[in-house]
Amino acid sequence: MTGDRQAVTVLGLGSMGSALAAALIERGHPVTVWNRSAAKARPLVDRGARSAATPEEAIAASPLVLACVLDYDALYSVLDPAASALAGKALVNLTSGAPEQAHEAVTWARRHGVDYLDGAIMTTPPGVGSPEMMFLYSGSPTLFETHRPTLAALGDPLFLGTDPGLASLYDAALLGLMWSTMTGWLHGTALVGADRTPATEFTLVAVRWLTAVAGFLTTYAPQVDAGRYPGDDATVDIQITAIGHLIHAAANRGVDNALPELLRTAMRKAKAAGHGSDSFASVIEVLRGGPGEGT
Ligand code: NAP
Repeated sequence: MTGDRQAVTVLGLGSMGSALAAALIERGHPVTVWNRSAAKARPLVDRGARSAATPEEAIAASPLVLACVLDYDALYSVLDPAASALAGKALVNLTSGAPEQAHEAVTWARRHGVDYLDGAIMTTPPGVGSPEMMFLYSGSPTLFETHRPTLAALGDPLFLGTDPGLASLYDAALLGLMWSTMTGWLHGTALVGADRTPATEFTLVAVRWLTAVAGFLTTYAPQVDAGRYPGDDATVDIQITAIGHLIHAAANRGVDNALPELLRTAMRKAKAAGHGSDSFASVIEVLRGGPGEGT
């Protein structure tokens, strides 16, 4: 069963590292694990993993090493003492971080003769192993192609490009999208909840609405790329009027209005910049800001 499967080492057995190792075991990969707190290896050993006493021993067991620890400080505290064991191996780093940290990791890997791929996990541990869930990768295309079948055991592997920072950059952008969407949903839930609609009832309709919203994004993306925002579906002026209704309804029900006020401010800035008759996509001109903003 395991004969044709790639041997994999997993460093870091927190919630996510344990889920990664479990998904690989499930698919029949020979898996060697290591974690700073050794007790977390036990459930995986019960399922067939081999537990290594040190990172060096774990790395020596497989040509492919996955690392998933808290942050980059933790990563280097594990990898620095084990760098010589990693030479000639393929390292896939699934630890979250900034794009700049991914670039530094490539430099570190080159210095130690390690082939490096950066990754970002777009799910929580229960979703690991599902082909519906995206795993984003950037950096070495050779490493990605060589190990794609193994990476597919974790989720749907998407290669974003050779710039190693891309996976982290997309991760940050997609989490931003998630937080604003979830906060918008919670705001709406609080609003209808004030008139006694249960969250579950509202959410059935809200989820259908998200499908329509996804269509708006698809319509607006080419407008953003072209830098032209024809307001032939709904204009910024119309959206400013509409968000006034939301703010009015929320204020009357004692619901916090910080989020829609922030959104209205951005729309008003777009209008002030001459985009009142343009589509909502023109708000990107406000968000992009000028040089030095957002630092
Ligand atoms: P977690 O459960 O808190 O696990 C943290 C892991 O990092 C543990 O294995 C811990 O070892 C290890 N660690 C922390 N400091 C260390 C150090 N100084 N030296 C060695 N090991 C150290 O976190 P997690 O949810 O598994 O997250 C791990 C990574 O996956 C993070 O970068 C996170 O952003 C990313 N991620 C998580 C999710 C999620 O839903 N959980 C989703 C996407 C991405 P000990 O067990 O010894 O403490």
